[in-house]
Amino acid sequence: MQNKYQNTNVKELLQKAPIDININIKGWVRTKRSSKGGFSFIELNDGSNINNIQIIADKKLDNYQDEIEHLRAGCCISVQGLSVKSQGKNQNIEIHAHKIQILGTVQDDYPISKGRISLETLRTMPHLRPRTNTIGAVMRLRSHLSHAIHNFFNQRDFCYLNTPIITASDCEGAGEMFGVTTNDKNDFFKQPAQLTVSGQLEAEAFALSLGKVYTFGPTFRAENSHTSRHLSEFWMVEPEVAFNNIDDNMQLAEDFLKSIIKSALTHCQDDMNFFDMRIEKGIINKLENICQSDFIRLSYTDAIDILTKSNKKFEYPLNWGCDLKSEHERYLCEEYFNAPVILTNYPATIKPFYMYCNDDGKTVRGMDVLVPGIGEIIGGSERETRVDIITKRMEQSGIDLHAYQWYLDLRRHGSATHAGFGLGFERLVQFVSGMSNIRDVIPYPRTPGHL
Ligand code: ATP
Ligand code: MN
Repeated sequence: MQNKYQNTNVKELLQKAPIDININIKGWVRTKRSSKGGFSFIELNDGSNINNIQIIADKKLDNYQDEIEHLRAGCCISVQGLSVKSQGKNQNIEIHAHKIQILGTVQDDYPISKGRISLETLRTMPHLRPRTNTIGAVMRLRSHLSHAIHNFFNQRDFCYLNTPIITASDCEGAGEMFGVTTNDKNDFFKQPAQLTVSGQLEAEAFALSLGKVYTFGPTFRAENSHTSRHLSEFWMVEPEVAFNNIDDNMQLAEDFLKSIIKSALTHCQDDMNFFDMRIEKGIINKLENICQSDFIRLSYTDAIDILTKSNKKFEYPLNWGCDLKSEHERYLCEEYFNAPVILTNYPATIKPFYMYCNDDGKTVRGMDVLVPGIGEIIGGSERETRVDIITKRMEQSGIDLHAYQWYLDLRRHGSATHAGFGLGFERLVQFVSGMSNIRDVIPYPRTPGHL
């Protein structure tokens, strides 16, 4: 027998199932039961995947009476032992312990026990909730989705751009922004500063020089929304592409979403099976279907038509020109089409100044991607390139032209058609996991009244 114990993790052990190897594994006890035959069975999880490895501890171990007997859910241990083929039908491999060292015991008030705790209760203990199967699975999926997003853009020669978090540019209306100042309020930047709501405007400058760029960073909205889809601090993915028009932009959004979802289905199988079983029944099938079919493309005007002709009673009545509410968006993608829908050509009056004005003078080339269960997951547009038109639109929106000379410059020097969009990263994690509340898909959620 070798003396050396090989460090490994549960994921690797279960995948490779190496038999007759001395291994060292560290993790947290999920359950422990003792058999009459003088053994304890410990289910150990180390976060590397959703599954546990079974540890068999013999009564003859030195510290059996004093320590091992008292192990319970949440205790942290280090196990040295031999990997053996398992007789049980739930696993192919288990560990016969030679030595179990207690790294951390738990106090009586440890809240994560075997009984199911509601996600709501878990939110009151954000530092301990990753010890649960659900939050663990969500965080592994979230991590994978991040990597998949970077891979997607990297493979297509996009430049990854870090736009500022502290900005002076007020993109969508000052009411929604957090101010940035020092404690003694001495106006550090010699002008008002805010936390960014979007990196788009800054990204446009780089798209018009590097061609294809994307940002992936934190954004902040000081809006008083208490829904299951809004956070005050969330992460946004924003590609911006020179020479793309609105059709290219829609195609990019569709290819992007499908590619990311496929990647999760391929690489996060254990966690996806868990979501399918425990969080949203049938979600794997739903996502597979979405990857295989074309997204519906629909103009705002046609959407209003469908909505007003439907017999559905909406809380907010509709007419051409009004903003669609979540109930309308969800009716379209969940009930009417039962598929992702890309809405385009919105009335200019309900969209920001930077969207390209159509020849009808009334609509702009904006697009929202709506998905079942969530509603809007992506918002984007082809950008206005004509100096006279964008200047007029900015004046109408009450924007200080002086502060935006640089943005107008982009239209004056070497301008070109360009387009981009913003994906709310947490909404994507929600969509792929089936989690119903956005607060449960980010490690430390920030919402109004809650830090
Ligand atoms: P909504 O109408 O749902 O509030 P929005 O139109 O204000 O969203 P955009 O400004 O278009 O959102 O932002 C782009 C994307 O960022 C949205 O499609 C959405 O996925 C995401 N997003 C926007 N606001 C939030 C928020 N408060 N929390 C989490 N994600 C958000
Ligand atoms: Mn939007």
